[in-house]
Amino acid sequence: MIEDWVQGHSLDWEDLDCRVNRLMEVHKRSKVWSMIDDNPFGSDSIDDICSAGWEIHYKEFRRTMGIVMPKLKSILFKNNLNGYVRDVTLFHELVHVHYGMRGDYLYDAGSEFYSGNGLNVYENGQIVEWIARKSRANPEMLGYVIEKFGFEPQIYDRASFLAFNGLIDFEKQLSFPFQSEEYPNDIPLFMDRTFEEFEEDF
Ligand SMILES: [Zn+2]
Repeated sequence: MIEDWVQGHSLDWEDLDCRVNRLMEVHKRSKVWSMIDDNPFGSDSIDDICSAGWEIHYKEFRRTMGIVMPKLKSILFKNNLNGYVRDVTLFHELVHVHYGMRGDYLYDAGSEFYSGNGLNVYENGQIVEWIARKSRANPEMLGYVIEKFGFEPQIYDRASFLAFNGLIDFEKQLSFPFQSEEYPNDIPLFMDRTFEEFEEDF
């Protein structure tokens, strides 16, 4: 089915939540649910991941946001990510590692491995993304993860505001995520130039 090919990270929250709830019904016998219930992803998980020697390395990926390399205990992370995309990607990779240390990396699309837990790579990806987003929306958890891995605190929503208000350099608030290269940047911004300059472009 085509919908199986939809990657978790491209879904809005309502759609993702609905799909994961349906997976819980359809695959209710899979051991993946008890593994998740018995091992909630929290600040202890972050301590365990760091103590086990996992490190983040950057790579100039074009489309990939992040990859977990179990043998190297390395998370390869796309450089120059910012804001929500950066943080939810980091959480997504950490969720893979957390459950990997408990026996199932929940390998998803793009991985050369297969989890063998009865769910396909797209379904695993949706579960990982579902846990990652819920966890990132918790200001305490967001603050803990960003500090632990030495990332720059960035405010872009209520959770990040609650996590980092007081820490942030508000000068940086003048640059918005939609102006970065991660977003389509061909929208004309009249405030950037005169109307004549704008006309020359078209
Ligand atoms: Zn993934």
